[in-house]
Amino acid sequence: MHELHGQAAIITGASRGIGAATAAELANAGVSVILAARSESDIRHNAQMIRESGGQAEAVTCDVSKYKDVQALISHCESTFGRMDILINNAGVIEPIGHLATSDPDVWSHAADINFKGVYFGLRAALPLMQSQQKGTIINIGSGAAHSPLEGWSHYCASKAATAMLTKCAHKEVSGTGVRIFSLSPGTVATEMQVLIKASGINPVSQMDESDHIDPRWPAKAILWLCSEDAVEFSGEEVSLRDELIRKRAGIEI
Ligand code: NAP
Repeated sequence: MHELHGQAAIITGASRGIGAATAAELANAGVSVILAARSESDIRHNAQMIRESGGQAEAVTCDVSKYKDVQALISHCESTFGRMDILINNAGVIEPIGHLATSDPDVWSHAADINFKGVYFGLRAALPLMQSQQKGTIINIGSGAAHSPLEGWSHYCASKAATAMLTKCAHKEVSGTGVRIFSLSPGTVATEMQVLIKASGINPVSQMDESDHIDPRWPAKAILWLCSEDAVEFSGEEVSLRDELIRKRAGIEI
């Protein structure tokens, strides 16, 4: 039996891509999962697939840019499973892709609200419960874009950089409380986000071949590993799947 068996997890952005793969991976390890996203029919479908494979899964619609949605999501997990051991702050958007000078201030800000404030909202809503349990793992999905400026991605690079710092600040505050916080930089992954990037034609990432991107099941496996005791020494860090040591420790052979 996997060491995480019987724990409860929330995965945001679980309607597709990395989030959907992570929900399936955690459920397969015996974790009860709540799949959250805005697309209700997709999360319902994914939860149903997990249940049909013998796992425990629920779908809860949530827009991570709205604090009340995130609060309700955490409360739902606590009232349904009596606990919340794991939060995967995965929801994210790449659009609008374009230059700052022509950007729409409302649309740009909304993307930052999802990619950055959504992570803060998850931390803010989950930490009191996890600290009272003296137990919990939060994984914020980061990106190499946090450290490399890319044309057309100003909101994305800036919000991922802000999230990387938020992870470090949160780690300082929870250290010694039984709560662990990580950031995972997955490399480039074959999801809808990369389809949108390719269609934009802006910057070198859009020129990459589809075969250069890894399967979403790899970051999902890395997330499962980060939730285990074996990864404790990496608490507070941003771990990258481009790092051979991390891949080895997570049991990933890309
Ligand atoms: P994806 O396939 O486009 O999935 C994004 C997910 O985020 C969807 O489930 C989407 O669901 C959800 N989402 C977007 N806005 C949301 C909101 N306001 N509230 C709740 N959920 C929301 O992309 P992905 O590649 O799996 O991305 C997952 C994470 O990995 C993101 O944080 C992304 O930045 C990061 N990442 C991806 C790559 C890559 O190469 N793919 C590389 C580095 C980092 P709904 O639209 O249904 O709400």
